[in-house]
Amino acid sequence: MKHRTIRGRLATTILAAAVCAGNAFAQPGNSGKQKDDTGAGDIYVHGKNPKDGGAPTAGSTGTLSSLINHGGPVMSSPKSYLIWYGNWNQSNGSDTPSGQALVRTFLGGIGGTPYFMINSTYGGVTGGASLSPLEYTDTGSAKRLSDSNIKTIVTNAVNSGLLGAPDPTGVYFVLTSSDVAKSGFCTQYCGWHTYATIAGTTIKYSFVGNANRCLNSCAAQTISPNGNAGVDGMISVVAHELEEAATDPQLNAWYDSTGAENADKCAWTFGSAQTLLPSGAYYSMTVGGKNFLVQRNLQADTNKCYVGLNGQQ
Ligand SMILES: [Zn+2]
Repeated sequence: MKHRTIRGRLATTILAAAVCAGNAFAQPGNSGKQKDDTGAGDIYVHGKNPKDGGAPTAGSTGTLSSLINHGGPVMSSPKSYLIWYGNWNQSNGSDTPSGQALVRTFLGGIGGTPYFMINSTYGGVTGGASLSPLEYTDTGSAKRLSDSNIKTIVTNAVNSGLLGAPDPTGVYFVLTSSDVAKSGFCTQYCGWHTYATIAGTTIKYSFVGNANRCLNSCAAQTISPNGNAGVDGMISVVAHELEEAATDPQLNAWYDSTGAENADKCAWTFGSAQTLLPSGAYYSMTVGGKNFLVQRNLQADTNKCYVGLNGQQ
């Protein structure tokens, strides 16, 4: 056991060095493409916070290696659909109606912001985004999910009709409550995105777990701007997955020679535009009157990570 601990620390040190050098980290177990747990499909995972707690990292202002357009389709203006899994109706803690409202505020307002406009530097992507008012709740009793369970949850939600017609311009987010475990979540990654043919439509979908299960691994801070570190942590991962789904929805459009997508190149870096609140929480952007700390994204025409289009790094 002692040997394993030492190796773990070494790996963390090497990863931290890679982040400082401004390199993408597309290694297995960090951000990048890997097989899902059926071994049959691919998922693009968003690795854990390499800093493992502590204040949010500003990150490199250097020029990174460029992404390659592999020719697959992009999404001009993705529409998010929310699928809530587990118990999101707690009266306190992280899995609350007010936590759900934070996700709606963020996804409902992110389209056209300087932050999301970074994606407009990828041909065919406008930087617009919207949120469907139609949501689906699955209070399923399973307390441990697999990747194929996530696909089943999305399939059930799409087939229910409660989210409207199957939407090829949609990104369907499965957001799990903090009492739900998921293979790989917290141990390898904080979320992922992929796609599948569901109801005859190419459906893009994403899993993001409640970061309250493992704040050091899946959040950048344990005190958050909205007093809900789990959901505030999720929102940064949701943003990351949405911009990757916009620019690489079928895993055959924009990624680099190591397999890193746009947001992977800037994962877990938050830029110099962070504001420190009296509570001790940092934030980097305001959407719908709420403050959020959201990780940066790669601008395609400069190959640098930004907080907003042509803006602060
Ligand atoms: Zn990613």
